[in-house]
Amino acid sequence: MSKLQHVLGISGGKDSAALAIYLKDKYPMLDIKYYFTDTGKELDETYQLIDALEGQYGINIDRLEDKKISSTNEDPFDFHFKSFRGYLPSPQARWCTALMKLKPFEKFVNGKPTVSYVGIRGDEQREGYISREKNIQSIFPFRRNIWSQDVLEKIFNPENHEQLLTYYSQYIKGGKLDKIEAVFSKPIPFNRNYRLEKERIIKEKLDALLEFGVVEYNKSIFQYLKTTDYPLSMEDDYPLLENEDNLVRADIFKILEESGVGVPAYYNKVKYEVDGQVGEYARSRSGCYFCFFQQKIEWVWLYEQHPERFKEAMKYENEDEYFTWIPNESLKELMDPKRIREIKLDHLKRTNKHKSKNSKFLLDILDDTESDACTACFL
Ligand code: SF4
Repeated sequence: MSKLQHVLGISGGKDSAALAIYLKDKYPMLDIKYYFTDTGKELDETYQLIDALEGQYGINIDRLEDKKISSTNEDPFDFHFKSFRGYLPSPQARWCTALMKLKPFEKFVNGKPTVSYVGIRGDEQREGYISREKNIQSIFPFRRNIWSQDVLEKIFNPENHEQLLTYYSQYIKGGKLDKIEAVFSKPIPFNRNYRLEKERIIKEKLDALLEFGVVEYNKSIFQYLKTTDYPLSMEDDYPLLENEDNLVRADIFKILEESGVGVPAYYNKVKYEVDGQVGEYARSRSGCYFCFFQQKIEWVWLYEQHPERFKEAMKYENEDEYFTWIPNESLKELMDPKRIREIKLDHLKRTNKHKSKNSKFLLDILDDTESDACTACFL
């Protein structure tokens, strides 16, 4: 029996929902606990997706609650907002993610050795905003490289090269092994002044190793982990070592549609008209309806498609104190018809540049913002 617990956070977004379906189908032997940390400020479509995962797909999702907050009958966001005396969260001060996502998650994990599955896709270049607790190890099943950045830094540390090569030599021999040795031997700066250069070389080395075989790479790293205190060091074997998949955005939509769970309705394009031209808008992610990570066109979408939510978002702003969701612009200013026209025209201009990508959903235009987002809220 596994000494570890396996967990997956369902954010209400497409990627974590698809990951839950993918893991349940492909790795039924993993006993995964699913959880959802509710801010109380999600769109209805998010709750519908969670219900669909439970109802149609039989996935039990634990809704994490803080008893102290539930006893007040307030939504978690309102409870914390009050204690911050009206200070809105922002990309620089993300108290919302820390208090409403990461803290309940770490409490749920309860200090146990844990593997946490994260739905970052193979077409994304980011690590996400994940827990750094030592007892929690993040695994990325949608990528060819399932391991986290901190593991990569360890295996590419020159001090560990010999060890890694010994493991590799069990799976790969001859000239190919020499080439792998050359990959490990390429100098890499570990000085903090060369962070970008270090990341670039790690990426280069990683791509080269993956080309020599994903399974051999995984097995060598797994052996290395057994000499560390990473949670997976406690396992004798791990089914994802054989995983060579690389899933991109289109695969995620396919999983959701084919499973019958469906894609949350807010991803669907809606037409708008401006100056006789027709454009399309949508929302690019799950998370709080007032999330400060959304683009201006998404605020316009909220204003026009969910006006009651937009009005609620306005109530949190305090223009006198400059507490606004968007820097230097209040929602009251944004809802001015002239401003909405401007935002739509700007959006149309950007959309036309991407016209060649004929996606059913609008994410081709909005996807550049996905990289800013936190994995806890939006995956
Ligand atoms: S969705 Fe946005 S506002 Fe909500 S908790 Fe996450 S980062 Fe904060």
